[in-house]
Amino acid sequence: MKEPSVTTPRGDQGQKDPYAPTSAHYRVVICGGGPAGTGPLVHAAHQGALARLLDRGVAIVEAGDRLGGGSFGRYGMTANSIGAAFLECLEHGDDDPVLSAARSLPVTRELRRFRDSSPPLSLVGSYLDGLGDQLHVALSRHPRCDVLLRSRVESIHLRADGTFLARVSERAPGRPPRERRLLADCLIVTLGGTQSRREILSVSPALEPFAEAVVPADAVMRGEAATMDVLARALRARVRVTILGGSHSAWSTAWCLLHRFPRNGPAAAIGPGDVVIVSRHPTRLFYMTPEAAERAGYGFDRVRDVCPLSGRVNRYGGLRGDAGTLARQVLGHGRSRETRIRVVAGPQASTTVAELAAGGSPIVCAFGYAANAVPMYDVDGRPLALQTEHGARVVDRHARLLRADGRAIPNLLAYGLGSGLRVSAEIGGEPSYHGRVDGVWLYQHDVGRVVMRSLLPDRPCRAGSGGPAAHAERVGA
Ligand SMILES: Cc1cc2nc3c(=O)[nH]c(=O)nc-3n(C[C@H](O)[C@H](O)[C@H](O)COP(=O)(O)OP(=O)(O)OC[C@H]3O[C@@H](n4cnc5c(N)ncnc54)[C@H](O)[C@@H]3O)c2cc1C
Repeated sequence: MKEPSVTTPRGDQGQKDPYAPTSAHYRVVICGGGPAGTGPLVHAAHQGALARLLDRGVAIVEAGDRLGGGSFGRYGMTANSIGAAFLECLEHGDDDPVLSAARSLPVTRELRRFRDSSPPLSLVGSYLDGLGDQLHVALSRHPRCDVLLRSRVESIHLRADGTFLARVSERAPGRPPRERRLLADCLIVTLGGTQSRREILSVSPALEPFAEAVVPADAVMRGEAATMDVLARALRARVRVTILGGSHSAWSTAWCLLHRFPRNGPAAAIGPGDVVIVSRHPTRLFYMTPEAAERAGYGFDRVRDVCPLSGRVNRYGGLRGDAGTLARQVLGHGRSRETRIRVVAGPQASTTVAELAAGGSPIVCAFGYAANAVPMYDVDGRPLALQTEHGARVVDRHARLLRADGRAIPNLLAYGLGSGLRVSAEIGGEPSYHGRVDGVWLYQHDVGRVVMRSLLPDRPCRAGSGGPAAHAERVGA
C-alpha cells in the first residue's frame, strides 16, 4: 500500500488570513497547544471524531511556534514511559488524515526505535511537534477553525450567557502585537506548569529560614546553568546536596546530578552519600503486574497499590525508567549498587533537612508544579476565585475547574502540568496515590475521552475504548 504523503503546516500563508480582524466564536478554544492541549484532538482523531469536532469550530492558541511538544524539548533526560506509549495513538483511526500523515514522519520512525525502551524526552518532543504539525494542517484548512501561534492568552473572562472570552495577543514576526478576542462555548486551559522559589516557600513555609538555599528541581532537570553552578560549587566543597520529595521529579533530579555534569564537573566529586533524598513516604516502584513485583521481592498492598483498571502496581506513584532503575540500585533491588545517593524517609525527614540546611546544603525541592496562570475574571468582572492546592488548580472528575467555594464551572476545563485530575474509577490508578495524574498517554486516551464528553456531549462513546480489559491490553496504561 502506498504510504500517505506527509503534509507540512502552511504556516502563516494559505487560504485564510489569520490576521483578519475577527472576533470569531468557536465551540472550543484551547489555551496552550502542548501535549495536554493537543491531547483531546489526538483522541478525537483515533476515535474517528476529529472531523465532527472541527465542524463545530476549534481554535488553539499557543505561545510557541509549533503545536504538540510543549516543554518536552527542554529536558535532557529520557522519558519515564516507553516509546510504545507515545505511539499507541497511531494504532487506531486508520482513516484519519492527521494520524496517517503522522505515521510516516521520519521522527515517528525514529521514535519506533524506542518502542520497548525509554526515548529521550527531546525526541518525544520532536515527535509530538510532528503530530502537532499535522493537527495544524487540519485546523488551518477548516473554515471554522484557527491556529494562533506565537500568541499569548492574556486573560480569560466568564460571560453571563455561560460562554467565555479569551483575550489573546498575537506576536507575529515583523508585525506589531495585535489583540484577538476569541469567544468559546467551552474553554480548555492547558498552559503547563511552573516551579519557583516563591511558590515552594508558600507551600512549605518551614523552609523559610533556608530560603536562599532553595532550588526548584525543574531547574536541575533543565540543566539551568546558574543552578548547576551552585550545585557544582557545593559538591566540590564537599557539602551534600539535599533533594526533597520522593516522586519521579526527585529521582530524575538525582539521576541528572549523577549523569549530566560534564566529565570535569562535580560528578567526579560526588562521593558516597553526598546526594540525600529526603521524603516523608517510602520510595514506591512501578511494576507491570503484581506477579512481577512479587518475583522481584517488592512489598506492596494488593488493594491500595494496584490499579483496578490496568492491574499495574503503583501505576502513578511508582518510579519507572531511569529514575526507577536508579532507585532500585540505591535501595538494593538492582544488580549494581549505587552508594552516592542516600535516602531518608519517614519521621526523621524534617530533622535531617534542618541539619543538612544548617550545614549549607542546597535544598532541591521536587514538590510538583503550580499552574502557569493567566488572569481569569468572573461574570461581574471581578477576579475569579478558584480552588488551588499547592499552587495547582483543582478540578473535578470531568476536568472542570472548581470555584473557591467548590462549585464546578461548566465548560471551563483544565488539566496537564499544574492542574491534573486525580485517581478515579474512570482514569484508574492505585488508591494509595494522592497526587495529580499526568502523562501524554493519558491526555491522548482517558483524559482525552473525559474532555471530549464536554466538547461533543451528543457523541456516543465508542465501545471498547475504556474498561479494565481494554486497559490491561494497553501499553501506556
Ligand atoms: C521533567 C518532566 C518529565 C516528564 N516526563 C514524562 C514522560 O516521560 N512521559 C509522560 O507521558 N509525561 C511526562 N511528563 C508529564 C507531562 O506529560 C509533561 O509535563 C507535559 O509536557 C505536560 O504537558 P502540558 O501541555 O500540560 O504542559 P507544557 O508541555 O508545558 O505545554 C504548555 C503549553 O502552553 C503554552 N503556553 C504557556 N502559557 C501560554 C499562554 N499564556 N498563552 C498561550 N500558550 C501558552 C506553552 O508554550 C506550551 O506549549 C513529564 C513532566 C516533567 C516535568
